[in-house]
Amino acid sequence: MRTAVVTGASSGIGAASARALVADGWRVVAAARRMDRIEALVAELAPNGIGHFLDVTDQPSVDALAAAVDRCDLLVNNAGGAHGLKRIDAADPAEWDWMFQANVLGTVRVTKALLPKLLAAPAGLIINIVSIAGHYPYAGGGGYNAAKFGERALTGVLHHELAGTPVRVTEIDPGLVTTEFSLVRFGGDQAAADAVYDGVEPLTAPDVAEAIRWVAAQPAHVNIDSLMITSRDQVGPNKVPLAR
Ligand code: NAP
Repeated sequence: MRTAVVTGASSGIGAASARALVADGWRVVAAARRMDRIEALVAELAPNGIGHFLDVTDQPSVDALAAAVDRCDLLVNNAGGAHGLKRIDAADPAEWDWMFQANVLGTVRVTKALLPKLLAAPAGLIINIVSIAGHYPYAGGGGYNAAKFGERALTGVLHHELAGTPVRVTEIDPGLVTTEFSLVRFGGDQAAADAVYDGVEPLTAPDVAEAIRWVAAQPAHVNIDSLMITSRDQVGPNKVPLAR
């Protein structure tokens, strides 16, 4: 059965993608660190959901996932996020390090580990969930902008390197999506997280999951290179609420 591996499936876009893919006939390996959530998701997706612990910053954990997966037709590199919103003059190297480890090196580790299985599949596909933050710098974007620019770069490199193989590569760049992203960014400060979405109707995780499902449903000769998706209330990096 066609099998997808979704990283960061315990929350937000990853969990919604696992649901959308199973509904579309995929078997999904849902991976993240919070196993209580992964187990609840897998119970919901039975019999086509399989849970696995994964910390994308830890090579043995990535190797254990790759060893446990018997087949991989689709890899959704979704695990990641932001820590902090500090200007460069107040940059915290530990926050930058976390963002590079989770978004950039995590994507590299998981891709490298699963590539032999993707190449063995009849029509492999890698979808990297990057961000509009990989296109537009903003004050305080700091390490998150830098990491997402880096993740975009590695996605482009991968596309060139896999040309001539059956494995396709897609970059998806969402704008504001209501998930736990901002709660994580602000260290659990709910008021700060809510303020990010003040006055606008952001995307939902299922909105982005539908794009992932659609990309993965294309015939084997079709490569969707990149998709930028924002809510109606966002143009590039700017929030532009609907005039009401
Ligand atoms: P979220 O709800 O916070 O989900 C983030 C997911 O990443 C969680 O499942 C988390 O799982 C996982 N994760 C974080 N560190 C991990 C690690 N070391 N190993 C394995 N999994 C890890 O946020 P989200 O919005 O769905 O974010 C998903 C992706 O979309 C991220 O790459 C984010 O940068 C990107 N994105 C988000 C937005 C937005 O506005 N929300 C916009 C553009 C792009 P555990 O903590 O259980 O491990």
